[in-house]
Amino acid sequence: MSIISVKKLEVNYDGRKVLSDISFDIEKGDYVIITGQNGSGKSTLIKAILNLLKPKSGNIYVNGLDSNSFEDWHKIGYLPQGAVLSNPLFPATVKEIVSLGLLGTKSFPKTISAKDEDKIMKALELLGIIDIKNKLIGELSGGQQQRVFLAHAVVSNPEILILDEPTTALDPEIRETFFVTLNKLNKDKGVTILLVSHDVGCVGEFANKLLYLNEKLVFYGSFNDFCESKKMAEYFGTAMQHSICYHRHRHHQKPN
Ligand code: ADP
Repeated sequence: MSIISVKKLEVNYDGRKVLSDISFDIEKGDYVIITGQNGSGKSTLIKAILNLLKPKSGNIYVNGLDSNSFEDWHKIGYLPQGAVLSNPLFPATVKEIVSLGLLGTKSFPKTISAKDEDKIMKALELLGIIDIKNKLIGELSGGQQQRVFLAHAVVSNPEILILDEPTTALDPEIRETFFVTLNKLNKDKGVTILLVSHDVGCVGEFANKLLYLNEKLVFYGSFNDFCESKKMAEYFGTAMQHSICYHRHRHHQKPN
């Protein structure tokens, strides 16, 4: 059974078609990069999967359940686009923000147990933000904030992690660390990852599948198929496609 299955999805905004005839399956443990031009429907697709909007037609299944009857939303971690706060006095510390990621797993009363405390510390450690756990979130740099929001998204040990352009505010060095952390979650913990990104070259080293949108599904398949696809050479340009595939090839040749 696929972990996510999208069938004949169509989404309209104010009568205007934004997504049409979208069908694909994502398997447990996949790392999928979702890419396409601005306005091609990437965020809309993510929102539809998260049941945040009502499609005109089609179905989405998560773990085999229609998303309208799926209830375990805490099993999905979500990092929305532009999750950066500019108010330096926003009244929450790093640790508090990360703790909030556990609320979806609880029924009332929502208290933090010793086990929760352990999960929170592990998430802080994984993202390298233990030292700043008592700082106010608004005091941090964009890169540090992104790590806090990622810790918030992973603290409940989600099976699926969905990230919408998470690295736009990051400088290249931190971006690299961020991708390495995501890769660890995927390879070591088996988390299924859906990542919206323009950075196909960088993510292509880690992702096993690529989904290219342009209102319709232009391409969905393995990276190997992408590298051989003439259609994708038209979209990316042959040189760009070769460059992406060359780096990926080199990465996969590296000894562990
Ligand atoms: P992407 O993430 O690929 O940039 P989006 O899914 O954000 O694309 O948007 C797809 C299209 O839908 C764009 O033309 C955008 O302007 C439009 N759009 C997005 N959100 C809304 C909305 N809430 N209401 C109306 N139009 C929207």
